[in-house]
Amino acid sequence: MRVVFHESFHDSDYSEDKHDNAADPGRLVGVMEALRGEGHYGVVIPSRATREDILLGHGEAYVAAVETKARLHAAAMMAAGAAIMAADYALRGEPMFACVRPPGHHASRSSAWGHCTFSNVALALLWLRNAGRIRSAMLVDFDAHTGDGTKDVLRAWPEARVFNVYGDSAADYLRNLEEGLKQAPQVDILAVSAGFDAYIHDLGHKLSTEDFFTIGRMLQGYAIRLGHQRRFAVLEGGYYLPDLGKNVLSFCRGFE
Ligand SMILES: [Zn+2]
Repeated sequence: MRVVFHESFHDSDYSEDKHDNAADPGRLVGVMEALRGEGHYGVVIPSRATREDILLGHGEAYVAAVETKARLHAAAMMAAGAAIMAADYALRGEPMFACVRPPGHHASRSSAWGHCTFSNVALALLWLRNAGRIRSAMLVDFDAHTGDGTKDVLRAWPEARVFNVYGDSAADYLRNLEEGLKQAPQVDILAVSAGFDAYIHDLGHKLSTEDFFTIGRMLQGYAIRLGHQRRFAVLEGGYYLPDLGKNVLSFCRGFE
């Protein structure tokens, strides 16, 4: 497994919103320390998505509005570029994790909320489809919040299934994921919106560090059942910074 990361993702001044927890200073420091500390995850450096890439999933007027905010636009183009790179490598057979911000699953075709700007994971899948490299995909989102933006961006593509994991407890969450994956179809690639805010000390108050390993391992199992094993994950939420690094690492150990 490899990690897609650009040093500019450490810059936290891309957001003008004081309540944007995804842009908290130092948020990705612990994550990259944990992933680099694991020793065998090579880091690959992405380049920014192009305007054409973004227009695969977003409307012209929305893109133009984001372009008026130079720092946000630059960060969001790099985040989308990182997700696209992860998808590209994944299709060639390597499991990937893209450590990015701003996140993307609340970004719809023509608007966004919840600290998101461009729909990173959906754009990565549309990019593969546009290149004629996939026809179908399964997107699993285990963030505490529903990926409403992802669903909107992919709504005209029925062969791209979106599955948001829910549950009132950790046991519920894991059971629902297991059931959902049992019923999941044969697809060309597995994409994951990896949010860590369902953590016991985060907004969702449910999942443990070990549960993130279990989630990663269930997703790996599904990819193995698909035969080709193609899979990639992209960071969404996760705001309890003292443990975010170990939670991401736990997921990656299961997913790799
Ligand atoms: Zn969330």
